[in-house]
Amino acid sequence: MAVADGGSGPAGLAAAQQLTRVGHTVVVYERDDLAGELRRRHDALVLATGTTAWRELPVPGRESRGMHQAMEYLPYANRACHDPEADRLGTAPAADKEDGLIGQLGLGLDERGVLRRDSGFATGAPGVYAAGDAARGQSLIVWAIAEGRAAAAAVDRCLTGATRLPAPITADARPMRA
Ligand SMILES: Cc1cc2nc3c(=O)[nH]c(=O)nc-3n(C[C@H](O)[C@H](O)[C@H](O)COP(=O)(O)OP(=O)(O)OC[C@H]3O[C@@H](n4cnc5c(N)ncnc54)[C@H](O)[C@@H]3O)c2cc1C
Repeated sequence: MAVADGGSGPAGLAAAQQLTRVGHTVVVYERDDLAGELRRRHDALVLATGTTAWRELPVPGRESRGMHQAMEYLPYANRACHDPEADRLGTAPAADKEDGLIGQLGLGLDERGVLRRDSGFATGAPGVYAAGDAARGQSLIVWAIAEGRAAAAAVDRCLTGATRLPAPITADARPMRA
């Protein structure tokens, strides 16, 4: 079966590697805004496009001048590197790069601004799965890889009726807390 994989981060590549292992033809698309078209041309689509929606960190001093979230800081820091006149950092709303995907596929976002999905990685759109930061929210590479692998198992099961791929986590699994 043909599977499209949107995003070449750790979640997307982990999903692509696993699906290839069991014989699917996987095409990885990077920075592609034609998600609706991709879905039509493939049997399934795994969205692993990461996120620019940050998590708030409720610690004393967070509101202090000069404290910035990494996701808003990075573009400004890059600009500052190239512009000697740039002596202060502004703030920007979280860029919603998934806008096009959401509109084309009719997907929903949760209250954190990430893709909604069920515990089996399926979004509300038929054949469309979401893995990694795009749906978990900002996290870690090990979680992204585990998500990609588990989403691949879900896709394989849906397309073939069974799977021998490992599913290391469910979509609603959370890190251990003290
Ligand atoms: C500053 C910073 C430092 C970090 N440091 C660490 C660390 O030390 N250790 C750690 O474990 N984690 C770290 N992380 C977190 C880690 O990078 C992420 O959790 C991980 O990369 C998420 O993987 P992902 O595959 O879900 O998304 P991403 O790695 O974000 O990959 C998403 C991919 O999708 C592509 N894409 C976007 N839109 C589209 C589209 N429309 N169509 C197709 N492709 C698209 C993007 O270009 C990108 O290649 C850090 C994150 C940041 C921001």
